[in-house]
Amino acid sequence: ETFDAMGLQENLLRGIYAYGFEKPSAIQQRGIVPFCKGLDVIQQAQSGTGKTATFCSGILQQLDYSLVECQSLVLAPTRELAQQIEKVMRALGDYLGVKVHACVGGTSVREDQRILSSGVHVVVGTPGRVFDMLRRQSLRPDHIKMFVLDEADEMLSRGFKDQIYDIFQLLPPDIQVGVFSATMPPEALEITRKFMKKPVRILV
Ligand code: AMP
Repeated sequence: ETFDAMGLQENLLRGIYAYGFEKPSAIQQRGIVPFCKGLDVIQQAQSGTGKTATFCSGILQQLDYSLVECQSLVLAPTRELAQQIEKVMRALGDYLGVKVHACVGGTSVREDQRILSSGVHVVVGTPGRVFDMLRRQSLRPDHIKMFVLDEADEMLSRGFKDQIYDIFQLLPPDIQVGVFSATMPPEALEITRKFMKKPVRILV
């Protein structure tokens, strides 16, 4: 398997190769194509398997770049992880002109508001700050069509369950959902049941 065979846009492939990836990892081989088709996917995989590039590629492939509105929201358990995802998304989407912003706690709310109002395609963030941005209507959910929960088990064990549900309530109905989690405790399964229709399950 190669990245070339996945039907990705030329400018996404350029970004992937420029980032230094030559061959897709196992999770990327199995996960990128279903995600790009708009399917709901549950991927049970540890960090270190290449899951970040899996959902970043799936998102970057499907964005409408002529519309500078938030079309995808990615939630992560920690500031560091959210900022790491932001970097990967920006690097892989460099030739596509993607605009990404990380909304995380401990940073300036005003600065988040300024960047969001200037227009972004993707928001990556921790649940608290993302909910805050939605509540203040600084982040408009109307155009969001892809929602990813990264390290879902970790977010749940950090007590973000209610905030994740609150955020989901504010998103448009029938959006694509991707759940990435190393383990599948009952609360994570409950999320997949409540947020997803007919998920494809990929175990790596
Ligand atoms: P992740 O599981 O997304 O945190 O990725 C773990 C590490 O693997 C990161 O340092 C990535 O840059 C690297 N990585 C992910 N996919 C590939 C790939 N296809 N080829 C080489 N390295 C990769």
